[in-house]
Amino acid sequence: MDFAPSAKELSHFPFLKKAQDHIKNRFSSLNALLKDRHGDALIESAVTRIQDALTPKKKADYEISVSAEDEIASYALARIIASCINDRQLLDRLTRYESERAYHFLVSEEEWNQNYRQGDSDYSLLFAGMSEELGIHVSSDRMALADYVELVSPMHDDRYHLINRQVERGFVRVKKEERYELLRERIRVLMRRDLPHKVPTALCEQLAPKAARIKKAYQEQMLQQFGSIEESAFPPCMQALITALTSGTNLTHAGRFALTAFLHTIGLDVPGIAALYGRSPDFDIERTMYQVEHITGRGGSGTEYTTPACAAMRTTGICVHADKLCERVNHPLSYYKAKKRDVFRTNKKSGAENTGDGKKPSPPT
Ligand code: SF4
Repeated sequence: MDFAPSAKELSHFPFLKKAQDHIKNRFSSLNALLKDRHGDALIESAVTRIQDALTPKKKADYEISVSAEDEIASYALARIIASCINDRQLLDRLTRYESERAYHFLVSEEEWNQNYRQGDSDYSLLFAGMSEELGIHVSSDRMALADYVELVSPMHDDRYHLINRQVERGFVRVKKEERYELLRERIRVLMRRDLPHKVPTALCEQLAPKAARIKKAYQEQMLQQFGSIEESAFPPCMQALITALTSGTNLTHAGRFALTAFLHTIGLDVPGIAALYGRSPDFDIERTMYQVEHITGRGGSGTEYTTPACAAMRTTGICVHADKLCERVNHPLSYYKAKKRDVFRTNKKSGAENTGDGKKPSPPT
């Protein structure tokens, strides 16, 4: 199949190998790229890219206003800076943002691509070529069962559950519009699989001021998002873990992990989390601090772990007492955000004190 995208087409899909090869000719090395007269501008545009990815509302306007080469370089630099920061949630958000962006350009291709060419199938040559390159075959309206299952396993939409699909002789039927969504998912998974990159320490040091700026903005945003800690908004699973802890029951490893990651994400500091574990009958300060610091990214690896999603919580048996709101969420943090909004509204109505003021959080009592 003829898949020789133009520079402009590549700039809309900078994760493609052909896009990376395209800028190799211009920037022979990363050092050359950073020393290029546009070096500072490129780094700034990479920082903006990460900040856009961290903005809670989806950015509807994904306009490209720089040259194709700068656009591709900004994508690559954003991944390098994000790798230096090495925060799991940040990496997740960046890859989700990039895959949404690619999806937007795929479904609107006729609007921005003057070279738009229809392929043999229902799809453009660009879409078909890209799908092939990324391992999704578009020649028919079905997909091999094994490929399908692998692709949709992280997707939460009920439509994609095998039980809701038409399966015939080892193949799953897939509609045209679903192929775009499946390709978006494929792009997300492939982009995430490569991260974090192994970036030389000297380069991370060079980029440290930019990384610090992103981290600060990210932390402020998280604090704004979660505000002060509202224990009454904790999901049932977390309430149950805290109750177990205070009533003297030992938590399983999965329980400790989920609770620590949850409390850390909503803004409780390390001493606050350790104090909570002080209620446990087998409390061991050294072991607790080690575990907490490891999960919150202050240990040797620098990796911050995130609360497991509901599906994983179910697998480890710590999803308990699920309520009505649980039916609408797939992550304990989503539950907390939604419930906190409700608590905030109720408190506002009754004239109670505002709980979403962004003040320094205090530990649950
Ligand atoms: S459904 Fe999710 S939020 Fe609700 S109890 Fe289970 S794990 Fe917690």
